[in-house]
Amino acid sequence: MCAAIYAARNGAKVTIIEKNSVLGKKLSMTGNGRCNMTNLDMREEYYNPSARARMKEWLSIYGVEDVICFFKSLGVVVKSEDGYIYPLSGQAATVVRALENEIKRLGIEVRFDEQVKSIKSAGEHLYEVSTNKGKLRADAVILALGGLSGAKSTMSTGDGYYICEKLGMDIKKTHPALVGFKCSSDEVMPGAGVRCTAEVSFLLGSEVLCTEYGEIQLTTDGISGIPVMQASREISGYIEEGKPVFAVIDFFPDYDENDFRALKADMLRLGDERTLEEFLLGFYNSYVNEMIMSRMKLSRTMKMKNISASMAECILDSYRSLKVRIDSDYGYKASQVTAGGVSLGNIGSDMAFRGDNGIYCIGEMVDVDGRCGGYNLQWAWTSGSIAGTASSL
Ligand SMILES: Cc1cc2nc3c(=O)[nH]c(=O)nc-3n(C[C@H](O)[C@H](O)[C@H](O)COP(=O)(O)OP(=O)(O)OC[C@H]3O[C@@H](n4cnc5c(N)ncnc54)[C@H](O)[C@@H]3O)c2cc1C
Repeated sequence: MCAAIYAARNGAKVTIIEKNSVLGKKLSMTGNGRCNMTNLDMREEYYNPSARARMKEWLSIYGVEDVICFFKSLGVVVKSEDGYIYPLSGQAATVVRALENEIKRLGIEVRFDEQVKSIKSAGEHLYEVSTNKGKLRADAVILALGGLSGAKSTMSTGDGYYICEKLGMDIKKTHPALVGFKCSSDEVMPGAGVRCTAEVSFLLGSEVLCTEYGEIQLTTDGISGIPVMQASREISGYIEEGKPVFAVIDFFPDYDENDFRALKADMLRLGDERTLEEFLLGFYNSYVNEMIMSRMKLSRTMKMKNISASMAECILDSYRSLKVRIDSDYGYKASQVTAGGVSLGNIGSDMAFRGDNGIYCIGEMVDVDGRCGGYNLQWAWTSGSIAGTASSL
């Protein structure tokens, strides 16, 4: 949509071919329905290592301010929440509708429920696009086919990879990124979607791979939430190789050692006729308490007076380093972005497929993936605007 708008604003006659029956299905689901469009803290380090040098160049061509100006030109007022940029309306639908309105205003034709199958050269600067409904000819084609991530309704089936492969491009092996993880089946996990602020360190054996802080979610079979997703790119490869990856969760990340020691002392002073379950009741979330008791094989009905002070301290200490083994990720459908895809070696500064200046690749289908926080949409706007402009020169 962004590429189409830039091309049409430059005077090109543009047609969008969309296999879904609506435009921007995935966009309408972003940011929990609020659309985190970009981020004021924009750095190339927030993207996959192999893309960083290229991102530095691309972000200097079309960065955060350009996104904000673009949406201003569409009448979308934005707000910053600690640098995370959202539409002021708080609705991702606003972003989709504003793009649709501009598409309509510019007279861009949109062909819905039509699936691109292949593209081939039809002469000098002419391409033939074959779809399930027929053939079209164009002197430039921008491929913005997304990846494999997102719910079924987003139609993210990775069509772009085989279409580009047939055109002779290298496709880097894909895997889900910004995704949660299933824990080993013999781990005891809480029974409900517990959300809590925690610091999570991910370990390969005993080596710390990365540490993230924020609101995590514990489910019946795994862990998720933004800090876990942020770490996913770092750890996914090891999990796929079957290596031993562990998450170590600190449920009291805002307590330094002294604070926590004082908290424990206060708790232990209360040791009386209560059962262990009653003792832990006000200490932390009941599902997590249950998980700690099960893992330590402690009966909830044990009386505190029968538990030694050092054992009680050990129980409380376990909230700072709960270790769970990770088995696998939750897969593409639960992920926010696809890592891998059209190799960056295939595309030039203007997103054109090298050696063929009429075919452009942009967005998620390209081997660029960013952290949570508006970085993936920034890439979509950056690559879309650059390709849209270049294709219409
Ligand atoms: C739940 C969720 C939340 C997210 N939240 C955020 C967020 O807040 N901030 C952020 O930066 N990123 C977020 N993302 C990531 C972001 O949505 C993607 O990076 C972005 O949508 C990629 O844009 P795209 O245009 O490349 O691909 P898509 O948005 O996937 O669009 C591709 C389009 O191509 C169409 N298509 C596919 N194949 C064909 C074909 N063969 N013929 C015709 N049409 C075809 C699809 O129907 C689709 O409309 C989120 C992702 C998910 C799943």
